[in-house]
Amino acid sequence: MIQNFQLPSLSIPVIASPDVCVVGGGAAGLGAAVGAARCGLDVLLIEKYGFCGGATVAGLSGTICGLHSSGDHPTQIVFGFAGEFHARMKDRGGVCGAVPFGRTMLIPHDSFIWKETADAYLNTEGVKVLFHTNLISAHERGGRVDTLVVRCAEGLRAIRPTIVIDASGDAEVVHTIGGSTTMGKDGVVQTPTMIFRVGNVEMKTFLKLDPRKIEALVAEADKSGEYHLPRHHVYIFPMPNGNEVLCNMTRITFPDGSVPVGVRSADLSFAEMEGRKQARSYAQFLKAKVAGFQNSYIVDTGAQVGIRQTRSVVCQQRLTNADVLSARKVPGAATFSAWPIEYHGAVDLKISYLENDTYDIAPDWKQPAGCGALSFRRTRSDGLGAGYCTMLGDGICRRCRHSAGLARENDHTTTHWNGRRKLDARPRPQNRQRGLDVKKQLRTRQYAVGGATGAMVRHGNSRRRLP
Ligand SMILES: Cc1cc2nc3c(=O)[nH]c(=O)nc-3n(C[C@H](O)[C@H](O)[C@H](O)COP(=O)(O)OP(=O)(O)OC[C@H]3O[C@@H](n4cnc5c(N)ncnc54)[C@H](O)[C@@H]3O)c2cc1C
Repeated sequence: MIQNFQLPSLSIPVIASPDVCVVGGGAAGLGAAVGAARCGLDVLLIEKYGFCGGATVAGLSGTICGLHSSGDHPTQIVFGFAGEFHARMKDRGGVCGAVPFGRTMLIPHDSFIWKETADAYLNTEGVKVLFHTNLISAHERGGRVDTLVVRCAEGLRAIRPTIVIDASGDAEVVHTIGGSTTMGKDGVVQTPTMIFRVGNVEMKTFLKLDPRKIEALVAEADKSGEYHLPRHHVYIFPMPNGNEVLCNMTRITFPDGSVPVGVRSADLSFAEMEGRKQARSYAQFLKAKVAGFQNSYIVDTGAQVGIRQTRSVVCQQRLTNADVLSARKVPGAATFSAWPIEYHGAVDLKISYLENDTYDIAPDWKQPAGCGALSFRRTRSDGLGAGYCTMLGDGICRRCRHSAGLARENDHTTTHWNGRRKLDARPRPQNRQRGLDVKKQLRTRQYAVGGATGAMVRHGNSRRRLP
């Protein structure tokens, strides 16, 4: 029998009224928070875990994708905040050199150093942070997101920011105010993956292995019935510490082939346990069958299963598969990418690469249609069969989110790369000036959707005066 429990009416203490509250400290939220702080705004970031990194760190996705071109000779073409973040990780010994990934390249990184680098950003840029703080619901008043109810260590609390950035990856803010979202292709999402680390690998031997031979061995071992290895097209990346690898090998579906949905607790619970089972089986397979793994052991999985796709905000425009594959260019683009479309389906994995070209990402592709919150999230292409693309790339996430946090025109230097723009978002003094302008606009209650910061308050009244 379904019953409803009626909560007694609650009076919740307001604990903060920042200029900007960023919900979620993944790559997107961190970039947006730093960008907004560099504009001189008072920024509070809330994050349900005790660290930043989201799917990149908690989900152990483990490599920076999207910085490089795609073709015969991939080189770094995306810089901006992602480039800066990469450089700071490198200074701390947290990244490997770029490794080939099909027609492009990616950069494996260390998840602990990701967390440390993020901590350093929060401290040096003056972003306030509340870890272990979970957004429960967002509330609108006067056509804008006015209050966030959060569960922090002390209990339920309220935050009343002027601007809210939804970087939850699950469109939590937009969803709870009743904004429009979609879920995969007709409700079918891409498959989760439990990523795991394997230690004590003979790295020299591993680095000489042909990935196609490993895949053939996986297929053979799966067929033998000795192991549970549903995914044959697997990724194994060397880690910067020189003796571990990161294994993106599992594919999680229910026994009937349907795909767990990352915003349902029962589905997530199944995915976590099935993910651990598969991780164990793949690790046993590696140890028994693959050269260089004889003395290896499974170190750990991510803190949570990797969820590729949940809610997408219905935005004013969307990046489609056709846009990616036709390398579509858009005037005033926030950034661009050469990262391929990756489709992780229930039975197959398809990757569609670009050849010596890039597609643009426009600022209003992140602007929710008809609701007062801007959502920065795992942006993906339209999911029409081939689905989830490029912006999946952590590098692109950080690049794009950061550009949205910053005044866009000040954020980019336009130079040329093979006849195209090359974006370079080194912080500039004007950004701070622009931040002051944003404050002025907020104060005079003229701040609108879009605009230079790509920010999110609907043409509505600013609730309070800024200092
Ligand atoms: C299996 C898998 C493999 C991947 N491999 C790669 C790869 O190799 N390279 C790459 O570049 N990208 C990879 N990606 C994609 C990459 O992880 C994402 O693009 C990136 O994490 C998206 O960043 P985000 O900040 O938008 O979202 P997320 O990383 O999901 O961050 C959202 C944050 O919001 C927090 N949050 C959510 N809800 C709440 C709430 N209610 N209250 C408070 N906080 C909340 C979460 O804890 C999280 O920290 C992979 C993704 C998956 C799932």
